[in-house]
Amino acid sequence: MATQKVVLIPGDGIGPEVTSLTVKLFEAADVPIEWEVVEIGEPAIEKYGEPMPEDALETIKKYPIVFKGPLTTPVGKGYRSLNVRLRMELDTYAVVRPAKSLPVDWLYVDVPRFKNVDVVIVREATEGLYSGVEHFVGKDRCGAETINIITRKGSERVIRFAFEYARKYGRKKVTAVHKANIMKTTGGLWLEVFYELAKEYPDIEANDRIVDNMAMQLVLKPYEYDVLVTTNLMGDILSDLASGLIGGLGVAPSSNIGDKYAIFEPVHGSAPKYTGQWKVNPTAQMLTGTFMLRYMGMDEKAELIEKAIFKTLNDRKKLTYDMTRTLKNAGIADIPPVSNKEYTEEIIKNLKAMM
Ligand code: NAD
Repeated sequence: MATQKVVLIPGDGIGPEVTSLTVKLFEAADVPIEWEVVEIGEPAIEKYGEPMPEDALETIKKYPIVFKGPLTTPVGKGYRSLNVRLRMELDTYAVVRPAKSLPVDWLYVDVPRFKNVDVVIVREATEGLYSGVEHFVGKDRCGAETINIITRKGSERVIRFAFEYARKYGRKKVTAVHKANIMKTTGGLWLEVFYELAKEYPDIEANDRIVDNMAMQLVLKPYEYDVLVTTNLMGDILSDLASGLIGGLGVAPSSNIGDKYAIFEPVHGSAPKYTGQWKVNPTAQMLTGTFMLRYMGMDEKAELIEKAIFKTLNDRKKLTYDMTRTLKNAGIADIPPVSNKEYTEEIIKNLKAMM
């Protein structure tokens, strides 16, 4: 297979660690990718005084696929989220977050019903409450407003994406998640568009759930759900919840898909408190990578890498701290954690034995 060029954004916080370990694993698997590295976020602030210099964005836009580590967003102040901005700049309007249990039994020993989770959350990524239209109101910041923007066009394209995704991957049901009982205009429009489009997909069951009920249902009986489609903030929250069902943020992959570009990044953030310690779990970034390989038509490489990861997890010899903690809390084993470098070496050893 010909070598393909992919933009690599290492990110900041734990991002450079988990992306470099993934690149190392991909190299060991002879994945034919050439990386175009673009630094944005904290490294760009240090070097250029701004988080996303214009030429960085230009380089990112040269190639259709971006592999990205997490990026920190200042809380309650500072610059706008680069993650949200990138999705808007590249118009990757559908965040696709599969929450699928891994073939690793010990991960689900606490809650066995989470063993069969296979839900895909499709989240709108360019509007909703993340539109960035917000301001303080009145004197002395006596109030504040954030505008929730829902357009027919924005809703249509992501809802259609969810139905098409369901059809393509043989899924049976799409559930629209909303809060239309309270937000009657924005939620109402979202639901109206959903049921209009559902008529074009008679082969796929369509239903809807109010978001608070959906959160409870996901924890109680996740296996009753298939594809969920929802707006920006609700999708953000529900996909972290769904990550918790399948073993936590350390193993949850994600992607942002548009008509021209696709960005692959894990669900988790930059976990700044662990920066430079080489201890966080790189599995989410690695599985995000195999998700990307499948998107690029490199299914065999993806399968090989995943097999090596799952063997390493099932062997339970070398695991990062979050996973040894799970084993200990479940009373299964008390294993000393290893660094994520050692964990990756173990995956590479298993991979080489399979090649
Ligand atoms: P976070 O995902 O960074 O961390 C949440 C919790 O999960 C923490 O306890 C963290 O230690 C743990 N965790 C995260 N990734 C892990 C991993 N790979 N292995 C083991 N444990 C892991 O979320 P947060 O603390 O809410 O946010 C931190 C920063 O990340 C914020 O600036 C936020 O805006 C940003 N963020 C970025 C993205 C992105 O880049 N797409 C997504 C979410 C949050």
